[in-house]
Amino acid sequence: MNRYWTLSDKPVGAWPDAQTFEMREEAMPKPGPGQALTRTIYVSLDPYQWGYKRRGVEPTGAPCHARTVSQVVESHIDGLAAGDLVFNTNGWSAYGLMGEGVARPSYMVPRKLDPSLGRISWAVGVLGMLGLTAYAGMILQGDPKAGDTAVVSAASGGVGQIAGQLAKLRGARVVGIAGREEKCRFVVEELGYDACVSHLSPTFADDLRAACPDGVDVYFENVGGAVFDAVLPLFNPGARMTICGLIAHYGDAAGVDGRAELMKRGEAIFAARGVTVKDLFVGDFVADHHDAFLREMAGWVADGKVRYLEDMREGLENVPAAFGDMLRGGNFGKMLVRVGEDPTL
Ligand code: NDP
Repeated sequence: MNRYWTLSDKPVGAWPDAQTFEMREEAMPKPGPGQALTRTIYVSLDPYQWGYKRRGVEPTGAPCHARTVSQVVESHIDGLAAGDLVFNTNGWSAYGLMGEGVARPSYMVPRKLDPSLGRISWAVGVLGMLGLTAYAGMILQGDPKAGDTAVVSAASGGVGQIAGQLAKLRGARVVGIAGREEKCRFVVEELGYDACVSHLSPTFADDLRAACPDGVDVYFENVGGAVFDAVLPLFNPGARMTICGLIAHYGDAAGVDGRAELMKRGEAIFAARGVTVKDLFVGDFVADHHDAFLREMAGWVADGKVRYLEDMREGLENVPAAFGDMLRGGNFGKMLVRVGEDPTL
């Protein structure tokens, strides 16, 4: 039998709770021509998955969507054999099919993994779409230079920890924004950011201003809300802001457009100071940039120029709790769950 998590029939609220998901069992899926059966090793938990659920993107009763690292059990795909390790999209599920006719977002193209590039779990992290998100938003859109001040929100999280280190590699002064003190310490002491301030502090806006005495030239936005409001007055003329995500708004009521409200609050300063605002969607960068990104990032990680922290939880049964924890800032590093044995460890 296969086991997987799906949305329960309870109404989806602003944020997930114990009633939101239910585990189901089904007969083991059988791979047809052009398909492979894979067993899931790592499930990636990402904030956008909550958007899928709130917008009703997932078919009723289907496994909750997620990017995964898996191992091939039975293959009817040329060039793919039992035992191969792959990036695919099994979701919150112990097993899943990949290949012809299996539904997935178009840009999440399954691929065979090369374990010599690094740990296989990194394929849903620093050496996968997460790393590409940071690379596209910071290097290609933000384009920081020596002398610039770059600010990154959710700075210890999956995307944020990488984005800030890339700005450092470009020679910028980098300031992080994170929650708990231990996250701020990690960002400075382990990742090499120049400073990090806590958005939980009552003096947050003043702390950020003090940490950015020369203003802000590049802002990598993961959060929105009060965090954006504190960055806004600090923008220098010609600054660049990348909207990677707005996690503080993912529980907003239906019809509330967090991005539009943020743009409205910013419009006077954006116009007066010539701030460029770019939206980021990682899927737009996969076809043209993924391979070059992977070579470059794998080199940086191997050389210790980019460090990467995972928050690894254990067991399929713990996936919903880990997911809720991440949305509340309970993760420390990139959140993922090991649901099956990793043969490379
Ligand atoms: P993270 O690992 O950064 O986890 C989310 C973090 O957000 C939490 O740990 C918490 O960190 C912070 N957070 C949550 N709620 C709030 C709040 N109300 N105010 C301030 N901080 C909050 O997740 P990811 O790295 O996976 O994702 C980061 C962002 O990147 C998300 O917005 C996501 O949607 C976006 N994203 C966008 C992509 C794209 O294509 N544009 C692709 C992938 C991700 P702390 O405790 O430090 O506050």
